[in-house]
Amino acid sequence: MAGSVFVETPPRDAEIVVVGGGVAGMSTALFLARAGRDVVLLERGVPWGVASGANAGTLSLQVKRAEVLDLCKLSLDVWRRFGAEMDVDVGFGQPGGLRVATTDAEVAHLREYSDEQRGGGLEFEWLEGNQLRDMAPWLSTGVRAATFCSGDAYASPLLAGGSLIAAVAKAGGRIVGHAEVTGLSRENGAYRIETTKGATRAKILIITAGPWSGGLARMLGVALPIYVDVNMLSITESAPKLLDRVITHIGGILSLKQLPNGTILIGGGWQGRGRFAGMEKFADHVRLGQNLTTAVSVVPDLAKLRLVRTWAGYEAVAPDALPAFGRLPGTDDAYIAAAARGGFTFGPAQGLLMSEMILGQPPSTPIGRFDPARLLTGAHA
Ligand SMILES: Cc1cc2nc3c(=O)[nH]c(=O)nc-3n(C[C@H](O)[C@H](O)[C@H](O)COP(=O)(O)OP(=O)(O)OC[C@H]3O[C@@H](n4cnc5c(N)ncnc54)[C@H](O)[C@@H]3O)c2cc1C
Repeated sequence: MAGSVFVETPPRDAEIVVVGGGVAGMSTALFLARAGRDVVLLERGVPWGVASGANAGTLSLQVKRAEVLDLCKLSLDVWRRFGAEMDVDVGFGQPGGLRVATTDAEVAHLREYSDEQRGGGLEFEWLEGNQLRDMAPWLSTGVRAATFCSGDAYASPLLAGGSLIAAVAKAGGRIVGHAEVTGLSRENGAYRIETTKGATRAKILIITAGPWSGGLARMLGVALPIYVDVNMLSITESAPKLLDRVITHIGGILSLKQLPNGTILIGGGWQGRGRFAGMEKFADHVRLGQNLTTAVSVVPDLAKLRLVRTWAGYEAVAPDALPAFGRLPGTDDAYIAAAARGGFTFGPAQGLLMSEMILGQPPSTPIGRFDPARLLTGAHA
């Protein structure tokens, strides 16, 4: 990542301060900076250094619940537009995805589930027998049926970070790395933001600090329950072309995709071990075994490849597992985008919608159900 795009210390004043340099914060900063607003992004470590840079990059429509489909469609469109219209190379690809079923019960479940999603406006092809083998000869014969959704996609967490950081800087946004926010308060109609590199003031504050967002909201007296998952992910050595679709599983936890460099990412949301306090997170070897067994049962040739690395990372999740973004309840001019199962998928839409809210523009898609106020558990400021 180009060091020159960063600013060494926070300015004394800014119009808008964004706390947290993952996909939610960087997208929000990008849209606001492109609209000509004065934006400073503060990041505790290296921007894009945690979940946003260490995830599987799966952008699957067909794994999403009906109530988030419109948000997901919008976000995939923004991911596509980054490269196609804004000259921000995020490694977006849209090869379509197969959601597989291996037992009678799973086939029935897949039918029911895909009917429900069709009701939500998603298009599928139902594939079995020769049709399925013709499209995906690399699938195990144990796969009985699959739905094909041409909208399923991926983006590259590695490429997207550097590109979005450069785009924010090019649009005039200032990014300060290694500036941990340690205090938030209201002072003379503005927010006072204490950091390890000095204090700054802003008219508008945006908290996009992933699982740390709950702690930051509490500094302003707002109690939001934001939980933390420990997701595991593995990557194989580079191999000749094996898979040309994004793979998910109706009955098992699985996501599979082959990257342009030939490596294959194996994940899906299997949980590792660890605690948020102390930042301890590890792979869970039993669940890792189950993850790999499921993967090989769907694509047998995976068994021939060496695993290069497995890692674990944090993902912030709300109790109802729906994204939570919008105005921070009970505050003036403070916003939060913190929890979303599949937050890499939703990040660009969250950024666009938060910027629309702040710019006073109508939202590109209805956002009422994602209002963080639904999560309130205690007194707020
Ligand atoms: C292994 C794994 C695989 C995943 N796979 C997928 C997938 O395939 N598809 C998908 O859609 N999602 C996936 N996810 C989830 C996704 O990565 C996250 O939901 C998403 O990246 C969250 O983005 P974010 O910007 O909200 O938060 P983060 O990326 O966590 O960024 C928050 C930032 O805030 C900073 N910060 C925290 N506290 C402070 C502070 N006090 N001051 C300043 N900065 C602070 C942090 O350092 C961090 O950089 C996966 C997650 C993991 C861990």
